Amino acid sequence: MTATIDEAVRVGVYRFPTPEPEADGTLRWEATTAVTVEIDAGGQTGLGWTYSGGATAAIVREVLAPVLAGRSPFDIGDCRIRMQRACRNLGTAAVVAHALSAVDIALWDLKARLLDVPLSRLFGAVRPATPVYGSGGFTTLTDDELGEQIDGWLSAGCRDVKIKIGEDRGERTDRDLERVSFANGLLGDRAHLMVDANGAYSTALARRVGTELDRHGVIWFEEPVTSDDPSGLALLRAALRCDVTAGEYVYRHYDAAALIGSVDCLQLDVTRCGGYSGFVECAALAAAHGLDISAHCAPALHAPIVSSFAHLRHVEWFIDHSRLEPLLADGVPEVRDGALAAGRGAGHGMRLAGSAGKYSVEGAGHR
Ligand SMILES: [Mg+2]
Repeated sequence: MTATIDEAVRVGVYRFPTPEPEADGTLRWEATTAVTVEIDAGGQTGLGWTYSGGATAAIVREVLAPVLAGRSPFDIGDCRIRMQRACRNLGTAAVVAHALSAVDIALWDLKARLLDVPLSRLFGAVRPATPVYGSGGFTTLTDDELGEQIDGWLSAGCRDVKIKIGEDRGERTDRDLERVSFANGLLGDRAHLMVDANGAYSTALARRVGTELDRHGVIWFEEPVTSDDPSGLALLRAALRCDVTAGEYVYRHYDAAALIGSVDCLQLDVTRCGGYSGFVECAALAAAHGLDISAHCAPALHAPIVSSFAHLRHVEWFIDHSRLEPLLADGVPEVRDGALAAGRGAGHGMRLAGSAGKYSVEGAGHR
């Protein structure tokens, strides 16, 4: 089969307001922005996206799309190397990695559609569906609102639930621990509690908070300190009983390698770590070190790939994304009995939704 990528890569920017202002330990936000990429070849269209900002769209339009034009959509490795090389002077991490990830996802979707197979078949599966964990529990929520989120996750069959701590950059540890105790009380023995500090604490404060978390039976302490500090994470990993985890800012396999030995579970995000190609690469690196992985956010995009890895624990069913993904795309796979299965149909099975138009901030313009 021959097909070449059309020159016109379509890029869209969509802003989805949150119902209320939200915050974790180190950031506040009132909306989530998705940047979509559509790539055409051989009469088919591949769709990818990332959660980022308008700068990502400019990188796709100005730097990546010209590299792709005329290439084979089957040679994703070739496209990937050429795009990375084109970004040398921009750097290949952060916003550029978001752009590379969205394009890689669109290319894999396109390839599977050209072959007329589900993407999950292309990757292969070791289980029919993958457990999700409920995630949200923002520091801005009232106890009643937190209780509602937790009830929702429990009724959906989640066996693990994650809340945010580290409020006001670690200034409110008393409230952090009160919320942990409150959430634990609601969960009882129905689900395990996980927490995410988003790098809010110093190493010493994280050790003291972590000791209390151990006392509460919390099983997962995500980014107790910034993930830029692997030695701080390693120190906490050695001191605490709960798992210490990080990885949502892994952009390249080098970043994943830097966290080996410092975490108990490596988090990977297809919308940041180089798309499906980067996910496979980093997952292999983790497997080679006996390290479990977990998918960070973007559940709809993770659905086709997460069932491929025996050492993958779960997918983060992040409330902001599970709320907006059905507005952005048609065909979003649903959580059933606490697990996520890949969508049916060719590719990842999703198309840009008509309803997305009203959230567009610059139109789904052509480059
Ligand atoms: Mg996190």
